[in-house]
Amino acid sequence: MISFVSLGPGDPELITLQALRCLQAADCIYAPVPVSAKGRHSSKAEEMMLALDIRPEQIQLYDLPMSKQREGACAAYSQLAEELIRRERSEPECSLVVVAEGDSGFYSSSAYISEQVEAAGLAVRQLCGVPAFIACNALAGGQLVQLEEQCRVIPGEATEAEWQEAWGSIHTIVVMKGSLCEAEIKRAVAAHPERRWQYFEFVGMPKEYVTERPEEILERSFPYFSIIISKRR
Ligand code: SAH
Repeated sequence: MISFVSLGPGDPELITLQALRCLQAADCIYAPVPVSAKGRHSSKAEEMMLALDIRPEQIQLYDLPMSKQREGACAAYSQLAEELIRRERSEPECSLVVVAEGDSGFYSSSAYISEQVEAAGLAVRQLCGVPAFIACNALAGGQLVQLEEQCRVIPGEATEAEWQEAWGSIHTIVVMKGSLCEAEIKRAVAAHPERRWQYFEFVGMPKEYVTERPEEILERSFPYFSIIISKRR
């Protein structure tokens, strides 16, 4: 069986019991190690699992090239998909797991892998988890949306018309991948004081940072692991 297991946003306590039990019983857990021009980074997924007493020998790390050009990452996902397909056919009794940060069905690279595995005719199962934006909202407190409000999620990039529509609306806007839209968010924070701006980095991790002060958001350099939640006051 091949399972796509969600780890939650960073705090090991935010994994579900179902996901934890699946990891504990797994024969092999595939987890990415981001590799950039600066070298190999630590694997957030591995750190979370070790904090949950998953045995190091269960974890199989794979290099994931991080770059604007997606070819390297796509090649890594295809290679992993091929290995999963080969192992599932030769060792069907094995429990194989691919982990994802946050929820594995929400802007997750798991999609590239599971699509290829399913295209080969193999069954997969997906275990849900806490997405980062939900954990962010809990940190800030209160309702992300209530009554007739709607919520729109923008994954870092949008057209000028889409940004303008978002900031002019009465609804809640969640922006993921803050590093892709730092300039746009800073312009909007300055131009729309009628909106409430909540800014989050590395939620549930030692580097966690949260602010609602526009002046602090304006002087921040947004990392990739940042989220902005904007609500009409
Ligand atoms: N599957 C993930 C989303 C992956 S897309 C989920 O369910 O949350 C990657 C984006 O998620 C990042 O650019 C960032 O905007 C957000 N993200 C993931 N984990 C985060 C964290 N711990 N703190 C802040 N943002 C996070």
